Amino acid sequence: MKPHVLIAEDEGALVTLLRYNLEREGYRVSEARDGEEALLLAQEEPPDLVLLDWMLPQLSGIEVCRRLRNRLETRNTPIIMLTARGEETDRIRGLDTGADDYITKPFSMTELLARLRAVLRRIRPSLAEDVVRIGDLEMDRVAHRVRRAGQEIHLGPTEYKLLDHLIQHPGRVFSREQLLDAVWGSDVYVEARTVDVHVGRLRKALNIDGVRDPIRTVRSAGYALDDMFSAEAAGVKAAS
Ligand code: CA
Repeated sequence: MKPHVLIAEDEGALVTLLRYNLEREGYRVSEARDGEEALLLAQEEPPDLVLLDWMLPQLSGIEVCRRLRNRLETRNTPIIMLTARGEETDRIRGLDTGADDYITKPFSMTELLARLRAVLRRIRPSLAEDVVRIGDLEMDRVAHRVRRAGQEIHLGPTEYKLLDHLIQHPGRVFSREQLLDAVWGSDVYVEARTVDVHVGRLRKALNIDGVRDPIRTVRSAGYALDDMFSAEAAGVKAAS
């Protein structure tokens, strides 16, 4: 699964350069030349990361950022803002723009790629690593193994897929319908209640030694894998 990067930038030469380098690094790239197009593309196929130019035609980068943050599907999508030197940099630094990082033009590709990897690793660990660790939970996606506090956990295929999906977006709340689409596929008819059953099994499997499980139920909204549970768990027993 290649990470999908959406480039929202109106300078054609820069887009070409970014696309070339990102594809060479194994990313899948889509591009928008103005703010409206960026929002449309992000809605059609939510990207894993957005490179967002500050000065865009139609809709400014800052407005695009704000709107992406207001949508459920892109609320936690990593966003790196691109700004020209001196152009609004202080405002980006000072304002709560919702961006995860910003980079000033002109920048070196090496620097941009490093920042991009760092943001992805922080926010979507599963895209950067084969072994994902969140708190005391460890998922080895190559060996297909799950451990909690060093203890091997056996999961059924559906519970494994559920965890695999949740762990890619720590902290993000998924509705039952979204989990159905992600785990069972959108062309299969499964009742929403089935999600509850499998989340229940996953919880039971993850709940070891009375340490609370990391899955959070959000009333009438759905489920999330908490990215904060590690701190609490560490208080109960020494987490890795
Ligand atoms: Ca621009």
